[in-house]
Amino acid sequence: MELLLSGARQLGIALTNGHLAKFRTLRDELIQWNRRTNLTAITDPGEVETKHFLDSLTVVLALPKGFSPSARVIDLGTGPGFPGLPLAIVYPDTHFTLVEATWKKTDFTKHALKALGLTNVTVINERSETLAHQPQHREHYDIVLARALAPMPSLAELTLPLCAIGGIVVALKKGDIAQEVASAEKVTSLMGGRLKETKPVGLQELADGRVLVILEKVGHTPSNYPRRPGIPAGKPLL
Ligand code: SAH
Repeated sequence: MELLLSGARQLGIALTNGHLAKFRTLRDELIQWNRRTNLTAITDPGEVETKHFLDSLTVVLALPKGFSPSARVIDLGTGPGFPGLPLAIVYPDTHFTLVEATWKKTDFTKHALKALGLTNVTVINERSETLAHQPQHREHYDIVLARALAPMPSLAELTLPLCAIGGIVVALKKGDIAQEVASAEKVTSLMGGRLKETKPVGLQELADGRVLVILEKVGHTPSNYPRRPGIPAGKPLL
């Protein structure tokens, strides 16, 4: 847990023994379930701690003042709970909604919530395209998170309709993404968004070119977006 601890410290997060105990539980449950059900390609305990847990926590770099307890946060395509679960461990006063289309993954996340005793998380087994047209979710969230969900043009169509005006989308990316970001400029603007910043993570513990792409929501998304499930990823708007 040393790398998680030191990396988190650099992010301005002081992990307590209570946090670390929860991260150990999550790590062990993930590795154990992964033997039966394919949840993640990362199975080495040390890599789970850095590439899943620490990487998830880097989202705080996109929020100058950290998570405000009242912020409404949604994580789209959370898989087995990343980045949402590690953030929910560290920010127990903030409510997180975790959305994932595959029930095998949501089953794990629901189990993990019980094992961790977390009450600040709602898990929804649904496509985000469907959720985005439901009034209780549409343009409702202050912070929309997405890691490894889709390339930026599809990601913009999937995320921005759920983001409230004044809110932000944080996409966790890796490598040289300038071109990918540029290719999403038109669809970002069509969805009522605009590029705020591309922020290198720059943590020694994750020295593999991680970046946060931050979009801000400045206007309403036209009601016909996102398109039907599967279309944003299958036929990206360019
Ligand atoms: N965010 C996790 C998982 C990434 S894999 C992580 O970084 O580890 C992408 C996940 O998104 C898959 O589990 C897939 O089932 C889910 N997904 C893709 N498109 C989706 C959509 N439109 N709605 C909900 N889940 C989606």
